[in-house]
Amino acid sequence: MSDNEEMATERTQVVCPYRGSRNIARILRGMPAFTEGRQRGLAEGKVILGGCEVEGIYPLPRYHCNDCEEEF
Ligand SMILES: [Zn+2]
Repeated sequence: MSDNEEMATERTQVVCPYRGSRNIARILRGMPAFTEGRQRGLAEGKVILGGCEVEGIYPLPRYHCNDCEEEF
């Protein structure tokens, strides 16, 4: 269970503001450190890579809904 520690700390009860879905991926931006937990999160669709920060868009969305493809 110890290797689930990071995913547990990152797991927040984020709910999609559009449909109330909990199928939410966290958007990682920049150059995140690829821990074992994050690699598994990517594989499971719980984390996506948002790339480098884009100027002109602020605040940047932090979450991506896997159901309706919205970012918020
Ligand atoms: Zn949604």
